[in-house]
Amino acid sequence: MKAHDGMYIGGEWRAAAGTDAIEVVDPANEQIIAHVPAGTAEDVDAAVRAARAALPGWAATPPAGRAARVAALRDVLVARKGEIAATVTAELGAPLPFSQAVHAGVPILVAGSYAELAASYAFEEKVGNSTVYAEPVGVVGAITPWNYPLHQIVAKVAPALAAGCTIVLKPAEDTPLTAQLFAEAVHEAGIPAGVFNLVTGLGPVAGQALAEHDGVDLVSFTGSTAVGKQIGATAGAAVKRVALELGGKSANVILPSADLAKAVGVGVANVMGNSGQTCSAWTRMLVHSSQYDEAVALAAEAAAKYGDRIGPLVNAKQHARVRGYIEQGVAEGARLVAGGPEAPREQGYFVSPTVFADVTPEMTIAQEEIFGPVVSLIRYEDEDDALRIANGTVYGLAGAVWAGDDAEAVAFARRMDTGQVDINGGRFNPLAPFGGYKQSGVGRELGSHGLAEYLQTKSLQF
Ligand code: NAD
Repeated sequence: MKAHDGMYIGGEWRAAAGTDAIEVVDPANEQIIAHVPAGTAEDVDAAVRAARAALPGWAATPPAGRAARVAALRDVLVARKGEIAATVTAELGAPLPFSQAVHAGVPILVAGSYAELAASYAFEEKVGNSTVYAEPVGVVGAITPWNYPLHQIVAKVAPALAAGCTIVLKPAEDTPLTAQLFAEAVHEAGIPAGVFNLVTGLGPVAGQALAEHDGVDLVSFTGSTAVGKQIGATAGAAVKRVALELGGKSANVILPSADLAKAVGVGVANVMGNSGQTCSAWTRMLVHSSQYDEAVALAAEAAAKYGDRIGPLVNAKQHARVRGYIEQGVAEGARLVAGGPEAPREQGYFVSPTVFADVTPEMTIAQEEIFGPVVSLIRYEDEDDALRIANGTVYGLAGAVWAGDDAEAVAFARRMDTGQVDINGGRFNPLAPFGGYKQSGVGRELGSHGLAEYLQTKSLQF
């Protein structure tokens, strides 16, 4: 695959300060497909300086002008959609149709939504005898994971651009080619030099240097809760703004009045998509004891149908980690009804779609984020029991509720400690705020709530 041997800083590809490189591996066949430079604190510093220098000009660009550039960026993403999908498939391993529809399709929707919001948002309002201005926060340090490589980038960069901020991006080490392609798109869209900068590199080196840099006003991080806690502590010590999108362990609550077959089928599909590497996946399926055995049979059947159609996990480490969780589930007494820890192919980081029955709420597989194609069926006795189980983890990112009518599902959803809930199979909405309760994070992405993360207010009194 084509890769740049440099960093995108100040509107051009510049040689990295050091000589270390990161190998990019195709997880479907374990072959090295490219190398990218491993950035250092020196590269991060150069990128932050470029972003700082570009800030006054971009912040002063009228919203309509910023909206035009974000729209141009969306158009380039549309024009290069095929290339984006192929790149994500090569470095993440997602099947091509999924890459086309989701990995390339969703960022286009999100970029388009911010082109519109930049043009229509009320950056100025009257409050009594005051005028309140929403001004850009400043230089944003964006740190992103590999699981939805382009979406995670666009969900930060598009609102930051719309707000008038400038950005330094440190993408995940497993998926840097998608980030380089995005930098090319920014360039092609005519976004001024220094407004967006890219430094590839390792988390504890380039990521940490970015999070700690004095010239960064806001750190926007998506990734694991463990790293998020460190970043939050560093930002807190510097009185720097921070937005954290972290892990999840979401519940799919099937109330007795629901269409059981539909709820189980959609629930299994939700977990298997992207090979289970979705922070908001409904990995705990909660079923009333009277319907439990039927749900287990339906889930096993749905998982078996996936067979070979799911992609590999992203890397060898995740492969070992997920298989370790499956072994731990068995060791703690859960019952495997589909899949298992054995690697289904000799090559590539594949894991079979796996379903566990007889999972109790305190088991490790019901508490910790597995980040693989593994769903756990948990039995409940009544609604209060279901609610206690649903809310019984440190996370609160997403969830689902199924019932005979929406009102019954909504009443349950309102009692859940979580940031978003799909009612009876509700569809993804790119304008709805996305983010976590509890240890799933701080702040919201997408739509106007996502834009507000990149703004700070100033009031003038008359
Ligand atoms: P990770 O935390 O290991 O890495 C995420 C990013 O942080 C990468 O770019 C990495 O290089 C960087 N990083 C690692 N150590 C760092 C450090 N010490 N300082 C600064 N940066 C550092 O997570 P991951 O394994 O890449 O991604 C999977 C996790 O992301 C899962 O827990 C998942 O739930 C979470 N996630 C959350 C959301 C959400 O919106 N809430 C979305 C996607 C993924």
